[in-house]
Amino acid sequence: MESLMERKVQYLNGVGPVKVKALARLNIFKTYDLITYYPRRYEERGAIKKICDINDGEVETIMGIVSTIIESKPRRGLHILKVSIGDGSGYVHLTWFNQAFLKKNFAIGMKMVATGKVNSSYRQITLNNVEYETIEDIDEERPHTIIPVYSINEAITQKFLRNLIEEVLLDISDFQETIPLNVIKEYKLMHRFEAIKQIHFPESQSILLKARNRLAFEELYFIQCGLLLLKSKNKDSQNGIRHLFNSTLMKNVLSKIPFKLTSDQEKVLQEITFDMESSIPMQRLLQGDVGSGKTIIAALALTKTVENGYQGALMVPTEILAEQHYQTLNLLLKDCGIKIALLIGKLTKKNHDIIIEKIRNGDVDIIIGTHALIQADVVFKNIGLVVTDEQHRFGVKQRELLKSKGSCPDMLVMTATPIPRTMTLTVYGDLDVSLIKQLPPGRKPIKTFVRQPDKRNLIYDFVLKQILEGRQAYVVCPLIEVSENIDTPSVIELFDELRNGIFKRIACGLIHGKLPNKEKEIIMDSFYRGEIKLLVATTVIEVGVNVPNASIMVIEGAERFGLAQLHQLRGRIGRGKYQSYCILLTQSKTIKTKERLLIMEKTSDGFILAEEDLKLRGPGQFFGVRQHGLPDLKIANILSDVDILLKARAAALKTINNKKLLSQISGSLAQEYKEHFINFTNN
Ligand code: ADP
Ligand code: MG
Repeated sequence: MESLMERKVQYLNGVGPVKVKALARLNIFKTYDLITYYPRRYEERGAIKKICDINDGEVETIMGIVSTIIESKPRRGLHILKVSIGDGSGYVHLTWFNQAFLKKNFAIGMKMVATGKVNSSYRQITLNNVEYETIEDIDEERPHTIIPVYSINEAITQKFLRNLIEEVLLDISDFQETIPLNVIKEYKLMHRFEAIKQIHFPESQSILLKARNRLAFEELYFIQCGLLLLKSKNKDSQNGIRHLFNSTLMKNVLSKIPFKLTSDQEKVLQEITFDMESSIPMQRLLQGDVGSGKTIIAALALTKTVENGYQGALMVPTEILAEQHYQTLNLLLKDCGIKIALLIGKLTKKNHDIIIEKIRNGDVDIIIGTHALIQADVVFKNIGLVVTDEQHRFGVKQRELLKSKGSCPDMLVMTATPIPRTMTLTVYGDLDVSLIKQLPPGRKPIKTFVRQPDKRNLIYDFVLKQILEGRQAYVVCPLIEVSENIDTPSVIELFDELRNGIFKRIACGLIHGKLPNKEKEIIMDSFYRGEIKLLVATTVIEVGVNVPNASIMVIEGAERFGLAQLHQLRGRIGRGKYQSYCILLTQSKTIKTKERLLIMEKTSDGFILAEEDLKLRGPGQFFGVRQHGLPDLKIANILSDVDILLKARAAALKTINNKKLLSQISGSLAQEYKEHFINFTNN
């Protein structure tokens, strides 16, 4: 049976070289991929409506005859394809932008079914986000009334894919169950083969739901098993470092902090201290909104490990951030005799080697760096604590790699991305969570405004006024090169326009990802020192940068960013005692975009923004989730499947604590998820 699952699709009936390529683009290479290529949605044939009966704003399905096909190119780079369909009761228009290749799929007089969201303004009815099938695709003889609809490309039709999957399913006589039978019984799950058959060709809506839930459960269950195994593997070992109670060095550093810790900071510091003093290795996530003061917590935890004779490492995603942390930590810790080194990619070979040598022989206490820290040539003398900042930019694998540089060091993972609880369980399911909810006192809430470009001059006048009062400003721009979209200036154009225009007498700087590192460094440096007053930037400044004197930010083309990302960007201001302002410029006139951006005016709560983002853009688009390094969810929904997630987690917990169950799943776990977790199965 294994061999059928592993069989390449080219050996299936009716699959020639063209189809093989087309299937490959859907990531379907073998039979197994094919039958686990789940439908995107379903159509109920009974639901077809007459055009005169469809409702504005609803998603509706109609059937009719193609009456006109019109192509137009109103401007360069824009192609519009408009297909009209009539059914005797009225007409609807289907419109596609820049998908000229679709045209060959239509012919006048062709019968087709289309589903989409109805928009009936300007006296005509348009269907948006259309799914359609031409008549050759519709198998009227198909007995099922619920028809699967897959994501396809131009070389594959729905009918082809359906038939292919159906044939393969008929050939399978025996199919491996992956979830232990006890679990299946306890949670009343559908068996796997049945679920796969039903997900493609459901007999009824209720059976379809059961099938879907089973497959969603399976997905979440295995991810949870992976994460919990990772967690228990760390917890089981009593070989962690037992840090001692705070002594002179810690007290010395604590007394040097120029402010009083907030009560949330005190609380998380206690949680961390407790973990570090235990013999079980710490595995802790520190979640705190932008500007909540996580850096100082990291500095204190690192001090604690140094006090105990160990080295500490702090890994961050960008060189800018590494340098900033290096300066911040030096300021606080150097006078206390702690030696700090910076290890980033841009060091000369010679300097790199010197630092590597110091790390190896214990000549430095705290090492701050980028991915450079996890390279093979970095060997620590004795690492006691690893910290990753802005963890949402790293994967599980990278933080585990850093940890593997020592023997059972404590681990602290920091992130400013506020994610809903359900997501915390999926993304950070192997960690204990500490939370900083409050911001340091004395911060004035940032005032945020959404504006159209007609207010641009006024806005920049205001920026100038602020700068003349002594403040600094960011102007963020989404693009580097002149783009297809003439309305949003490129960062370079914008920079030239500003420094030659209204900011003629002001020191301006430009920073973007394509600049040589040396240049980036010089510019960031003079911005830190307050020499550059206006910094035009791309999202390179999105994580972690801390310049308390910067109190104003203009974001051009704001509609191009997700809310969580805008929130991160906005987090660069409002870090000091000054009233801060964030202006979101957008030329987008669509109501949806405007509404989305207006949420930024109303709230500065990262959790609310993250949830809105998830609702509006879906988990796939969610800021940073991709980088977590966890498998993409094929069928489970991170937002709506909370119930299933909690059950799957409970089941996973039982499974990993039971040797027999564990041995039953370890094969599937290793097979399906080996890329996502490292060595979580080898005990
Ligand atoms: P983030 O959590 O976004 O990494 P930072 O650690 O960069 O935030 O802190 C933001 C700013 O707040 C820094 O300038 C830091 O010195 C300051 N800060 C941190 N904790 C406090 C506090 N308890 N009181 C006053 N200022 C604080
Ligand atoms: Mg930070």
